[in-house]
Amino acid sequence: MNLNEKGYGVREVIVILSRQPGNNFKVAGAFDEGVRNGLHIKEGTQEQALRVWTSDNKRVPEGNEPDIIPIARATELLTVWRRLWVEVDSMAADFVTGNSTGLTANSLQDITKSWEEDQFNSYNEPWDLNPNTRQTQAFRIVDTTTVRVYVGAGNDLTTVAQVGDPYCIFYTFPPDRSSDDEFRGEVPDPDIGGLGEAFREAYIEVLLLPTTYHQSHIPWHHNFRTSDDSSVNIRNFYQFVQRYRQSVPEENDWWTVYVLGIYESPEANFDNDPNDELCSPGFTIEDKPPGFPSPEYSAICFEHLRDLAAQWQWSEGEQQAVLKALVVHEIGHHSDLEHNKEMKDGVPTNIMWAPDRELDPPKDRQETLMPLTPLRFRPKDINEIRSKHKP
Ligand SMILES: [Zn+2]
Repeated sequence: MNLNEKGYGVREVIVILSRQPGNNFKVAGAFDEGVRNGLHIKEGTQEQALRVWTSDNKRVPEGNEPDIIPIARATELLTVWRRLWVEVDSMAADFVTGNSTGLTANSLQDITKSWEEDQFNSYNEPWDLNPNTRQTQAFRIVDTTTVRVYVGAGNDLTTVAQVGDPYCIFYTFPPDRSSDDEFRGEVPDPDIGGLGEAFREAYIEVLLLPTTYHQSHIPWHHNFRTSDDSSVNIRNFYQFVQRYRQSVPEENDWWTVYVLGIYESPEANFDNDPNDELCSPGFTIEDKPPGFPSPEYSAICFEHLRDLAAQWQWSEGEQQAVLKALVVHEIGHHSDLEHNKEMKDGVPTNIMWAPDRELDPPKDRQETLMPLTPLRFRPKDINEIRSKHKP
């Protein structure tokens, strides 16, 4: 290296840092090889441990600090921050309206819409078609294609409607124990507003993916339950949700997570029907069903949330607090965090806390603690998040 008359020179070096959030670095240099070889940090106080020292115990200057002789310099502390991109989707409403562009005895066409083949007649779901909303007769849908829905043979839609009439396709809620399921209309986007605060402690900045990743009208489904075996129902949901996550494949260079607003969980045992069931208003599929190598999927169940809020008479503010906490909790599962029961003075201490059933009624009492859950991970969980190569 060429030094000028004052003893200074320039040399570029590329330093490759590790990529785990919260890792700290200092880069130090000296012209003299003997000085370089003696550079070290110390154990002990912050002042010692966060500075670079020469072998003869001089503090290596940083920033505007005056030079030492022989010359050595160090950078200020460099901390790795990572970005975590969030993809948010949500379901459309439990009905579809429009004006038909084609009509036969047993089918209706709407070329302005694009339907999916399982949109109206899969997962044991009763969807009906009223081909002309100026009258009340409706017909059960038995098949769906991209632009056409079919009703059963023996029906004749043209007796009550003609091409161009306003139609409505609607889900008919079954008269069973879910009959108190009252949530209607568009399913909202899950609120990701709590993520920034919670993940900042792990040196992670949370950002929403651009609007091209955002789908707020994915086809509505009730709960994907076609069996008493919940693994079958989860598999139904898994096959469905896979179509909509666009932030794949996950890579160490690009950290992404996914959360979808849905109506109800595929698992019947956590939907607050009946009310004294211990309700889980969100879930994350971490263990992929066999044959599906893929990332995690989180879902927030808006009917469960409505039901819980009604049961415990939560205010709008409390309901919003629970929603925010749910999203942080579920995204915590993307980093393989486990549940814990840690409470202080009867209040959960952290976001991965999950309610437990109690012995005495009301056995679901711990649900009342949900609005009190802080948007904080335990230090142990922060360490776990920071050690993951991708969430
Ligand atoms: Zn959980």
